[in-house]
Amino acid sequence: MKMTTKILIWMAAGLMFGSVINAFASDVVFIQDYLINGLFYVVGALFINLLKMLVVPLVTFSLICGVCGIGDLKKLGRIGVKAFFLFMLTTASAITLAIFISVIVAPGKNFEMADIEQTGYEVPPAPPLTQVIIDLVPSNPVAAFAEGNMLQIIFFTILFAVCILMIGERGKSIVDAVEKLNEVMMKVVNVVMAIAPYGVFALMAKTFSMQGIGLILPMIGYFGVVVLVLFLHASGTLMLLLKLLGQVSPLMFLKKMRTVQIFAFSTASSNATIPVTLRATEKRLGVDNSTASFVVPFGATINMDGTAIMQGVATVFIANVYAVELGLVGYLTVIGMAVLASVGTAGVPGVGLIMLAMVFSQVGLPVEGIALIMGVDRLLDMLRTAVNVTGDAAITTIVARGEDSLSMQIFNDPSAGAIEAVHLPTKEMQEN
Ligand code: ASP
Repeated sequence: MKMTTKILIWMAAGLMFGSVINAFASDVVFIQDYLINGLFYVVGALFINLLKMLVVPLVTFSLICGVCGIGDLKKLGRIGVKAFFLFMLTTASAITLAIFISVIVAPGKNFEMADIEQTGYEVPPAPPLTQVIIDLVPSNPVAAFAEGNMLQIIFFTILFAVCILMIGERGKSIVDAVEKLNEVMMKVVNVVMAIAPYGVFALMAKTFSMQGIGLILPMIGYFGVVVLVLFLHASGTLMLLLKLLGQVSPLMFLKKMRTVQIFAFSTASSNATIPVTLRATEKRLGVDNSTASFVVPFGATINMDGTAIMQGVATVFIANVYAVELGLVGYLTVIGMAVLASVGTAGVPGVGLIMLAMVFSQVGLPVEGIALIMGVDRLLDMLRTAVNVTGDAAITTIVARGEDSLSMQIFNDPSAGAIEAVHLPTKEMQEN
């Protein structure tokens, strides 16, 4: 059986299993203590740790190879500028579509506050924009690597790789060594992916055992509009851009993105999904390492189309609930703020709500309103993260196509880069 199919089956099984527990056994102490907060929690958390463990070394080695592979600073700059521009464009169009549809559907009008159990969520303070800019440069690279601060890691690694190029012939052995290290890390990704079905099952079962349909029903207006716009953006806007700017088949793209989307959905973290996105863009879609190694981690940090969509709908929803008139200027501010906020925050679970707090305080909406949408946020987080990573990979493909670094042979081969079975080393293999 193909690995993607296997992961999909285990995901569906986890989802169903969790939902059954939620419906029939949510107060059985044994199941809660040993299964949900015991086995599922441990296996799921182990799996997320395994993925996160790969991110920093993989991005570092891959980016050094990428920059040294390009070998041309002008090209590197061009790729960066193109990617940045396209990321901003897609995020802005995502939130504009979200606001447009929400204004028409008007979720939150006649909303009964009493229907909702308020969770009283304390919103952590958002960093000021000046600090976001200053923090692009790490004062201590070791701390940046230890904390997994992606933009700082990208900054330092690019500078480091450019300087390897600048020392010329003597840097060659470093590049050779890093290429080998990169190959090893890619192998580690394969090994981790081989156990993914069980990790995905545990994450799904745990999440859905706690997320009953009862939470969604009173919020169905808000929930439905977010899901609708996420779907329109992922299958409309992004695919249109792939077709028009990238001149590649959107269907083939989506087929090859399935595993990445499942990982993003079950982990709710674009950052933790970076290893899988990187692998898929290079091995499945045929993007050259020189482009993917830079654009994928960059996108996971600054590009959040799905999150912007949630923010657009949430703004209109809360404005309706509290009967606040935002007007055109208000909406334009929301668009600008959401795009800026997506640059300054990393792709980790739940960060969308923190960004939303920034947006709300800017346009004068009550920040307590966020407590209203908290209950359904985990599920929406999973969905929007899947859209976030789809956007990252779509833009990576488009940029690569424009730079002539997309292998159409790999892109059009349905089985290229499919996850293989992992064979543990044996004595004979080493002797061969
Ligand atoms: N979880 C999202 C991501 O990692 C961010 C968010 O919307 O909260 O991309």
